[in-house]
Amino acid sequence: EDSANVKVVVRVRGFVKRERERRAQCLIRMDPRVQSTTLQPPADASDGGPHSHKSREEKTFTFDKSFWSHNESDPHYAHQEDVYRSFGEEFLDHNFDGYHTCIFAYGQTGSGKSYTMMGTPEQPGLIPRTCETLFERIQNEPSPNTTYNVHVSYFEVYNEHVRDLLVPRTNPPYYLKIRESMTDGVYVQGLTDAPVKCYADVERLMKIGDLNRTTASTKMNDTSSRSHAVFTINLKQMQHSLMTDETIERSARMRLVDLAGSERAKSTEATGQRLVEGGKINKSLTTLGRVIAALAQNGGSGMSGDGRPRSGHGKRRDVVPYRDSVLTWLLKDSLGGNSKTAMVACIAPADYDETLSTLRYADQAKRIRTRATVNQDSMS
Ligand code: ADP
Ligand code: MG
Repeated sequence: EDSANVKVVVRVRGFVKRERERRAQCLIRMDPRVQSTTLQPPADASDGGPHSHKSREEKTFTFDKSFWSHNESDPHYAHQEDVYRSFGEEFLDHNFDGYHTCIFAYGQTGSGKSYTMMGTPEQPGLIPRTCETLFERIQNEPSPNTTYNVHVSYFEVYNEHVRDLLVPRTNPPYYLKIRESMTDGVYVQGLTDAPVKCYADVERLMKIGDLNRTTASTKMNDTSSRSHAVFTINLKQMQHSLMTDETIERSARMRLVDLAGSERAKSTEATGQRLVEGGKINKSLTTLGRVIAALAQNGGSGMSGDGRPRSGHGKRRDVVPYRDSVLTWLLKDSLGGNSKTAMVACIAPADYDETLSTLRYADQAKRIRTRATVNQDSMS
């Protein structure tokens, strides 16, 4: 068993056209020596959103890594390759060692979550880089007695419904059910788990999935900011020993999650508004916030292996409300359970209020501990 904190990194993107046009001011500084991120209040009150009456101060946070992707001319500029090298690669190592892993991207709409996770054909992100390296490693496996089996799935959680992104859209939409079993844990019933033999297979599936996601967004205008996309790689490794005629099987799962825009997590308490515009609140996202808060409060895995609160520590442990939303229920293991987990907090360069909320969220996530175990079986 390997107990570790959730790894938390932050990444700031460059200005987009709209920000350049309004001559936005960059409110972020990063110090590469200590991996800190500093947010400064905007000089012009119109820069920071609707709460300009609130007192705004300079705030500094420290993370496992602060990625400066604001201007390429900076010597510390973090390219897609740098982001992958600094922890994507490490997480893939963990998968080959038999650990479950999870990387999720958090941040407001337009902050760079999809760019970081999926990227573009010219600038591939964490998901394509991870898959490409995975097959490179499999192809370079020196032992003829080690074989691999890879499957991928891709689904989205939209409005508390799970939809398979690898099957064509139907009318009416077809939603999948969530089940929980002793042997398999929490899973999506009937989800496509496509076998893949090479990177080109994965590439094809990613395209189908993203197309299914964007088709929806033109119809319903902003699906991708409201939905959570979960890409999962299931890696099975079989090692046959000629000496003992025993086969050791390791199964590891990597979850790569592109969350809905964090502006949708605002609850009525948080904004002080009595009525929040219909459909704006995202139950899975607000529950994720409560799960992270409870786990941070408990100083890590607040649950024992069987899902019941641990007792005998004197201090009261908060009950973690995993089952209150579809996303947190499905990601229960990745959040404070049997997984090595990382969070990428994506921030826009010129939005004080949303950025502060994201940085606070990320700061809290640093306190979560998970306990990962190697998922291994021996058979003879
Ligand atoms: P989100 O998924 O969080 O809504 P996107 O990933 O779609 O945000 O990013 C918003 C825009 O900013 C896109 O046009 C994207 O290409 C661009 N962008 C985001 N991050 C970067 C980056 N690090 N470097 C260059 N462009 C970026
Ligand atoms: Mg996106």
